[in-house]
Amino acid sequence: MEAVFSYDCLLGHEYVERFFARVIEGGKVGHAYLFFGPRGVGKKTFAFYLAQWLLCRDSSREGPCLECVSCQKVQHNNHPDISFFSPAEDRLWIPLEAVMQIQREVSYAPLEGGYRIAIVDEVERMNEEAANAFLKTLEEPQGNAIFILLAENIYSLKDTIVSRVQKVRFAPLSLERVWGYCRREFSEEGVLDGVVYSSMGSLERVRQFMDSGWLERRDWLLGMLEGEEFRFSSGFVEGILGQLESFSKRQARRKELVETLELLETLFRDLGVLSSCSRGILFHPDRRDRLEEISRKCSFVEWFHLFHLCWQTRQKLAYNLHLELTLENFAIEFQQEWGLS
Ligand SMILES: [Zn+2]
Repeated sequence: MEAVFSYDCLLGHEYVERFFARVIEGGKVGHAYLFFGPRGVGKKTFAFYLAQWLLCRDSSREGPCLECVSCQKVQHNNHPDISFFSPAEDRLWIPLEAVMQIQREVSYAPLEGGYRIAIVDEVERMNEEAANAFLKTLEEPQGNAIFILLAENIYSLKDTIVSRVQKVRFAPLSLERVWGYCRREFSEEGVLDGVVYSSMGSLERVRQFMDSGWLERRDWLLGMLEGEEFRFSSGFVEGILGQLESFSKRQARRKELVETLELLETLFRDLGVLSSCSRGILFHPDRRDRLEEISRKCSFVEWFHLFHLCWQTRQKLAYNLHLELTLENFAIEFQQEWGLS
C-alpha cells in the first residue's frame, strides 16, 4: 500500500513540531486540536505525523521512532486506531450521519493501546445539525479519544467549537521551500516562476497548477485581457462563465470556477502593481512583458476594484452561497464596473 505521507512535507513547520514535543514530553496531550491555515501547506500531513508520534511505542522528544510496528502501520495508512474523515467529493457538506460515524469510531477502546485518533478534514463544511452534534462530542471528551480538526479558515467555524479546541496555526511555506519541492518533484524547465509565486506557499496549489492545465488557462485569460474587446464589452465575463459550462457536475464546476477566480485575482493584482509603477514582486514574473502591456488599459484603482470583485466572489463561493446567484452578481457588478450595463 502506498505511504500515507512524505516526511518532506513536514518541513517548514518546525515550530509546531517543537510545540508538540513540549506537550508530549510534559504528558499534557489535549483531547482536541484545530490545525488551521491555508490549504496545501501540510496540515493533513502533520496530523498523521502527530498521530504517529502519539501512537509510537518508542517515541522521543524528537518524534516517532518510524520503525516500530505502530509507526509502520501509520506510515502505510492501516493503523486501526486512526480514523480519517473528509467531506465526500460530490457533497458540499459533512452531514449528521458522518458525525455520528465519527462519534461511533472514537467511542471504542484503542485496539493497540494508547489513543483513538480522529482526523477530520475541512471541518468548516459541517452543516448546522452536524456541527451541533459534533459540539456535544467535544464537550464530553471520551477518555482516550483525540480529535485533530483541519480547517482553512477559523472564522467559518462556530465560536462554540473553536473555544473547545486548542488552536495551532499553520503558516504558508516560504518560497524557498516551495522551490525545493518543485525541484524534487518536477523537471526544472517544467516549473515556471509563476507557478511558485502563485502557489502562495501551498504545495497543493503547485500540484494543482501542474495538473490542471493551469498554464494554458493563465495564457487563455491573458489572451482575453489583451483582446481589443476587453475594455468595451462583456465578452470577458461571458468567456469565463462559458468556459465553465462544460462541467456538468455542480461541485466540479464550482471548484474550477474558484480556481479561475483565484488565478484572475493574482493577474489583476500584478496588473495593479505594474500600473502603479511600483517595484513589488509579481505573482507572474514569467509573463511580465505581456502584463506590462495590458496594465496600461486601466488605472491602479480600476485594477484594484477588479481584484476585489474576484476576491469577494471567491469568498462567497467558498462559503457555499448559491452558485448561480453568485455568478450572476459577479457578471452584473463586473459590467457595472466597466460601464457596460
Ligand atoms: Zn514508533
